[in-house]
Amino acid sequence: MLTAVLEDGTKISMADKWFESELKNLRKKQQFKCPVCYSSLILKLGSKRQWHFAHVQDQSCRIPYEPESSYHLKGKLDIYHWLMNQGISAALEMYLPLIQQRPDVLCRVNGKLIAIEYQCSSLSEELYAERTKGYYRMGITPIWILGGNRLRRKQTDLYQILGFEWNAARFNPVDQAYLTYYCSESTSWGLMQQITSYSATKALAELTVKKSHSFSMKELLTPNESTSNTMKSWLKIKKNWRYQCFHPHPSKSELLLKKLLYQHRIPPGQFPCEAGWFISVQHYIKTSPYVWQTLLLLQISHHLTLHQPFSLNTLEDQLTPFIMRGVITFRDHLQLDLTEMISQMVFEYIQLLVSFAIVEKLTNGDYLYLKPISLPKTVEQANEMDQSLANIKQNTPNGLHFQR
Ligand SMILES: [Zn+2]
Repeated sequence: MLTAVLEDGTKISMADKWFESELKNLRKKQQFKCPVCYSSLILKLGSKRQWHFAHVQDQSCRIPYEPESSYHLKGKLDIYHWLMNQGISAALEMYLPLIQQRPDVLCRVNGKLIAIEYQCSSLSEELYAERTKGYYRMGITPIWILGGNRLRRKQTDLYQILGFEWNAARFNPVDQAYLTYYCSESTSWGLMQQITSYSATKALAELTVKKSHSFSMKELLTPNESTSNTMKSWLKIKKNWRYQCFHPHPSKSELLLKKLLYQHRIPPGQFPCEAGWFISVQHYIKTSPYVWQTLLLLQISHHLTLHQPFSLNTLEDQLTPFIMRGVITFRDHLQLDLTEMISQMVFEYIQLLVSFAIVEKLTNGDYLYLKPISLPKTVEQANEMDQSLANIKQNTPNGLHFQR
C-alpha cells in the first residue's frame, strides 16, 4: 500500500514528496495504521523497492491480501501522477466502504467517476466480475490497465490473451476491442488495438507504444481508430487451419467438426470458404470461428433447400444444441446473456453471408438460402477462394454494435 493514517487521522501518502530521514523520524514517533481496518502497518523504506506500507503479518484486513510487487506499486503511483499532471483530480487507494473495495486510483473525468485498477498479477475471472460489478453499483466506471509485464507477443501482430484480460478490453465507437497496458519500468503506455480473436487464447492485434508524457487520459478513453489492415495475417491463420487440420490434441469441438465433415465427405482442410471469418461478437467466443461457422453452415445446407426462406430463430435453434453440449463455448463475461449471445452470433454471421451472396435478406425480415456454400476441391483452391472472399469482407463495413 502507498497510503496510511496516523493515530490522529493524518493521512500519509507516498505520492507526496518525502525525504527518507523525515519518514524514518515519523516511524520512530508514530504508529502507521491501515486506513481500512486501522490495524498497524509497517513502513518499508528500501532502496530497491518502492517505499510502501504493509500489514503486520497475520493481521487480516477487509481488503483481501494481494501481494503488491514493486512494479505494481510504482505503476500505481505513476498513473496517479500522470492523471494529476493532466489536471485530472485523482485519489490514491481510496477505500469505498459500501462495496469494500479500494481502487488503485479513483479519478473524475468530465464529472464521471472512474476507478482505475492497475493489474499486474493474475486475477480470477470471478474476482474480476465481482469488483467490476461493485464499481457499477456505485455508479463508477472501472477501467482495467494491465501491467506491461502481462503483454505476450507471439509474433509480429499475434498476441496471447488470457483469462480476465479478455474482459478488461474496452471498445472504440466502431466496436473494435482494445486493451491498455502500462509498463512502470519503461514508463510507457501500450495500446493494443483491433483485437481480432481467433482462438480461445490468441488474437491478432496492433500495438502502439507511447511514452507517458505523450499519452493522455483522453486517448486512453477514446483512442484514435486504428486503420491497420489485419486481413493479410487473418488469411495466414485461415491457411493454418486448412493445412494443420487438426492439432495433435484436438479440442472437443474440433473432434466433433472432424466427425461431421467426414460424414459430409469433406476433407478437414476443405471446410467451406464462407466459414472462418472474424465478426465482432467473436470477442466473447472461445471456439475458433472456423469451427462454429462450419457447424452452422453444415446445418444450413443440411436442413434447408435452395431458395427456401428461413428466419434467424431457426438458425439459433440449430446452434443451441452445440452450445448446450459444450461444443461451442464462450468467455466468462458478466454482461452476457446466453440467448442474446446466440442471436448476436447468428445475426452478425448472417450479415456476412449476405455480403458473400449465400443468403439474401427478404423484406419481411426473413432470409432466403440463395446459393450453395463453397466447398473447395483442393486446399489450394480453398486458399484462392478465401482470398476473394477476403476482398469482399474488407469492403463490407464492420461494427454491428453488440448490445452490451
Ligand atoms: Zn487493513
